[in-house]
Amino acid sequence: MNGAGKLFVISGSSGVGKGTLLKELLLQHPELELSISATTRKPRPGEVDGVNYFFVSKDEFMQSVENKEFLEWAEFNGNCYGTKQAWVEKQLNKGKNLILEIETKGALQIKQKMPESILIFILPPSIEELEHRLRGRNTEDEETIQGRLHEAFREIECSKYYDYKVVNDDLYKALKELEQIINGFIH
Ligand code: ADP
Ligand code: 5GP
Repeated sequence: MNGAGKLFVISGSSGVGKGTLLKELLLQHPELELSISATTRKPRPGEVDGVNYFFVSKDEFMQSVENKEFLEWAEFNGNCYGTKQAWVEKQLNKGKNLILEIETKGALQIKQKMPESILIFILPPSIEELEHRLRGRNTEDEETIQGRLHEAFREIECSKYYDYKVVNDDLYKALKELEQIINGFIH
């Protein structure tokens, strides 16, 4: 993969505000393209196939794994998530700057395969605030919330392997920090 495009990988615990930050970032930066992952998770209310994710069955997902279609994939809290290699290669070769919003196991696979990728981890101001946001979003049942909090501890531990860390306390401030990091690579 020798294209001129840059690959930014953004991770952070569920509920930390990745979706909120990225929505704002993409509105202000049409030159950035967000990768759409495949997942076996069921859509949340309002999520649209082909927009938020490609929602697939476990069989379809495992077929893609077998066909080596994924640049990376991982299981997260009982569901599988993956990024299609062909799409990433095509976009980077066209010179597009890409954002992958993925969990830590996948991110570290990317860093290994593509050391030039830029890994950014979004941290919560505190675990209490993370739990508060996760619950406030009102999209998951108690078991799922507990599972996601458990994953949060594991993921924060992995953040030491990331190139940059941004604390999402004040949304505007975090957005500016994220923009500064990205601008340093594409301008
Ligand atoms: P993620 O995509 O990381 O799972 P979301 O973007 O869905 O997280 O955010 C989880 C909840 O936290 C949402 O209700 C969102 O409005 C809220 N939120 C995001 N960023 C902040 C912030 N800086 N301060 C307070 N609440 C926030
Ligand atoms: P959610 O179910 O909240 O949409 O996503 C759960 C976790 O999976 C989040 O940390 C999200 O970043 C991650 N994720 C989404 N797409 C991918 C992907 O393609 N690969 C990997 N490894 N993780 C993903």
